[in-house]
Amino acid sequence: MEYLPEDGVLPGITEGEIVVIRSARRKKNISAYRQGGRIVISIPARMSKADEREMVPQMIAKIRAMEDSKIPSEEKMVERVGELLAELAPEITERPASVAWRSMRERWGSCTSLDRTIRISDRLKGAPDFVLDSVLFHEAIHLRHFDHGEEFYAVLSRFPQSERATAYLDGYEDAERALAAPEILKKVLHSQP
Ligand SMILES: [Zn+2]
Repeated sequence: MEYLPEDGVLPGITEGEIVVIRSARRKKNISAYRQGGRIVISIPARMSKADEREMVPQMIAKIRAMEDSKIPSEEKMVERVGELLAELAPEITERPASVAWRSMRERWGSCTSLDRTIRISDRLKGAPDFVLDSVLFHEAIHLRHFDHGEEFYAVLSRFPQSERATAYLDGYEDAERALAAPEILKKVLHSQP
């Protein structure tokens, strides 16, 4: 497998990171998959530039369409926060004004209690329900308890699968680090507008 950094970014694509790998072993097929926040597309080493420019956006569109059909909408997440609070923390009567997907690499979620807005990292778009629930619940508690104090953790501990969820999130971050692009490729990727 060889990386051709100048092929790492397609013009006009700014959402997420797209990595194109030219594989000498690959003769015909294209494969595309999600790797952390990236979409990785593996194409035959000999594919022409023209074919690459045509095929790669198609693969990206295909992956996004497949993912979109499974992603909870922002309205659904507002509803879900309400359900989680009603079930696990009925004493918290605050409800979020909005729950929005955001591109966040450093955090899984954030909550601004002042205007009751919650943001969830788009890295969770493919996560199992209990993992998304755990992050939603965490941020929802911040509507009442602003910092990570004793009261906050007392409520958080009511989430039934928090150990499993934490293991998933830690594993995800480890994988992201392990699969980080080589320095030279990173430089190219980060020069995106
Ligand atoms: Zn927090």
